[in-house]
Amino acid sequence: MTLGTAAGVTEPFPAECVLSGARVALDPGRAVWATLVVRNGKIAAVIPGRKAPAGIAKSLRVINLKDHLILPGLINAHDHLHFGIFPRLGQGPYPSWREWAEDIYHPEEPPLLDLLKISKETRFWRGAIQNALAGVTTVCHHDAPHALLTGNALPVKVHTDCGWAHSLDDRQWARRFAQTPVNRPFILHFAEGTDAQSCRESARLERKVKLNERLVLVHAIGVSKSDWLKLRAAGVWIVWCPTSNLHILGQTLARELLLSYPSIALGSDSPLSAAGDLLDEVQAARALLDLPSDLLYRMVTSRAARLLRLSGDQGTIAEGGVADLLIVRDHSRPPCDSLITLSRRDIAAVMRSGEITVASDEFYTLRNLATELRLFPFQRHGLQWHVAAPPGVLTLQS
Ligand SMILES: [Zn+2]
Repeated sequence: MTLGTAAGVTEPFPAECVLSGARVALDPGRAVWATLVVRNGKIAAVIPGRKAPAGIAKSLRVINLKDHLILPGLINAHDHLHFGIFPRLGQGPYPSWREWAEDIYHPEEPPLLDLLKISKETRFWRGAIQNALAGVTTVCHHDAPHALLTGNALPVKVHTDCGWAHSLDDRQWARRFAQTPVNRPFILHFAEGTDAQSCRESARLERKVKLNERLVLVHAIGVSKSDWLKLRAAGVWIVWCPTSNLHILGQTLARELLLSYPSIALGSDSPLSAAGDLLDEVQAARALLDLPSDLLYRMVTSRAARLLRLSGDQGTIAEGGVADLLIVRDHSRPPCDSLITLSRRDIAAVMRSGEITVASDEFYTLRNLATELRLFPFQRHGLQWHVAAPPGVLTLQS
């Protein structure tokens, strides 16, 4: 099945609009009443106060966000978007990802037989939609680049400006690392296992490259205590995918490590192994390890932006920054507490570079968005949504 890129499915939202009446997150612990002026995909102004200044409101499209809280759009540091429509597979725990992959990979049998017939483009779309519905505005795709990912069609921005290898089992990984520009991150699965082979990966890595802050190691479950000290001293970044780790390996990173290691961001990993989406990871991390809500907030906003070396103040809400926003119902809690307790019912809309990509049914109807946007209906989490995606992609049964 091929649906192509469906370019132009979203009508341009007013290039300039005003979001008024909401509390706006300044950092994990603080939100203030403010009006946001969004212009050409950026936050042109943050004006303190509960109401939009009268002069501004007259000339622009004003979206009344009374009783709402505006959070920065979330940043997913690790996903495999082409598996966006796949179910979770395997019965762990396994010694490492290698045994899991061998166990689940039967392309000649259902469900893979049928799923692999779906075009890669459609699978990218579904992966992107899954992220957008979780409040994600930027996702790092861990696999080969594709034209659909670097265009502007998908409801999330896909970060591909980095080097990557699947893992140290990729014989070309050191060459790929050497070819990656020195100011870009290099991402690979690392020590995804509890067996001896996984535990030796730190030594294998160090034999070929000098540890530094460009390295982004995904999972790192088999890293020893002494090797954690080396990674920390070198500023190496880690992506933590808790539900994927638990599904494949039966364990994940320790709470003390997560509290003390300064360079860890959160990723959803693929639906093949994870419980759901990035919001599920945030909430599972909280439930499993009782991590502080401000730490989890940073792991999916400012920290993830630093890991990926994103520009434009991504992961924060600031004048001059990109208008990547997650608009939720306000329960008068600090932003970080709102995020970790966020119910799907409280998600009102997601804005990517100033354009609404996801709206709840209530938000869509009450604000009369049908006259301005071409969003299409989609059921997920038992709720009705409106999403910037082609109807053919949305109606495909998963
Ligand atoms: Zn992965």
